[in-house]
Amino acid sequence: MQRYRNCKLCPRQCGADRVAGQTGFCGESAVCRIAFAGPHYGEEPCFSGARGSGTIFFCGCSSQCFFCQNHQISRGREGRAATEDGLLDLAENLAKRGVHNLNFVTPDHFWPHIERLGRRLRERGHTLPFLFNSSGYQEPAMVPAYAGIMDIFMPDFKFADPELAHTCMRDRRYPDITREAIRRMVAAKGFLEPWDDEGRIIARRGVLVRHLVLPGYVENTRQVLRLLRAEFGPLLPLSVMSQFRPVETCLEQGHLDRTVTAEEYDQVCDLVGEMGFERVFIQPRAGDPDFLPDFSKQEPFAGNVKQADPAHLPAGDAFPRTS
Ligand code: SF4
Repeated sequence: MQRYRNCKLCPRQCGADRVAGQTGFCGESAVCRIAFAGPHYGEEPCFSGARGSGTIFFCGCSSQCFFCQNHQISRGREGRAATEDGLLDLAENLAKRGVHNLNFVTPDHFWPHIERLGRRLRERGHTLPFLFNSSGYQEPAMVPAYAGIMDIFMPDFKFADPELAHTCMRDRRYPDITREAIRRMVAAKGFLEPWDDEGRIIARRGVLVRHLVLPGYVENTRQVLRLLRAEFGPLLPLSVMSQFRPVETCLEQGHLDRTVTAEEYDQVCDLVGEMGFERVFIQPRAGDPDFLPDFSKQEPFAGNVKQADPAHLPAGDAFPRTS
C-alpha cells in the first residue's frame, strides 16, 4: 500500500496520496476497483482460443484518451471495489472455468494489487499465462517489475505524432515513453510465442503490439508502423485493429466522430504488407457491435453470450478486442 502514497506508478508521476483517498490523473484511489471479470472471446484468437481469455477489467486509466472505447470505466464511475481476497476469488473462478490465460486489462495504476495477486496465484499452483493488457503508456522503469509476474505483454502503440498524443491524452511524450516501455518488454520476454498465423495455438509468452487505426489518421498509423519496423524488425507480432467507434466525447468535440472507412483500413493493410511485417492479426471488417462494451450490464459484451452458445458463433473473420 505504501506505493500508493506519493504515487509514481505511471508516467504522469502525479504523487497523489491514494491511500489518503486522493485520486491522480488515473482517477483512482488506493481502493482497487474492477468493472468486469469473465471469459472474453473477442481478443486475438491466440488469446481467446475456444474457452476464452480470463479478463479482469480494472477501473480508471493513466492515459485518459478522450475517445476511449471503454470510457464508462476508464473515466466514468462504473465498477466496484475489490479486496485482495476478492480479486483472488475472481481469478481462481476464472481459472476453474478453463480460460486460457488471465488477462489483466489496464493494470498499471493498480500494480501493487496485481503483483500481490499474481504471487498468490503462483503460490497456489496456478500455471496459466498472465497477460498485461495495456495502453503502452507505461513507466519504463516499472517494466522489470511487471516482467517478474507477467508472461505476456500486449501494449498498444496509439500515436507516433506527439501533437496527436497531446490532443488525445495530453502528453506529447507518449511516443517516446511507449517505445521505451515496449523495448523493455521485448527485452524481458521476446516476441509472442508460439506464433501461429492462424492463431489456433494459444500463446504462452512474449510481446504482441496492438494498434487501433483512428479515422482520418492513416498517416499516424504509417508513422507508428515505421517506428515499430525500425525498432523491432518485421517479426514483431502485431494486431492492427479497425474497430474504432466514436463515443459521445468524439461527437461533442467533432473529432474522431466516425468509424474507419474500408478504404482507410485497406490502405493500412497495404502499408503493413509493404513494410514486410510477417506476423499480423487484422480485422477484415469493422468491429462487431456485439463486442462494443456496455459496462452498465452484468455481461458488457453481448458477443460473449453468443460465443458461449455455439449456435450463434460468428463467421470467424472478426475479432473485436478489449481496447
Ligand atoms: S497511477 Fe494514477 S496517481 Fe499514480 S502517478 Fe499515475 S495517474 Fe498519478
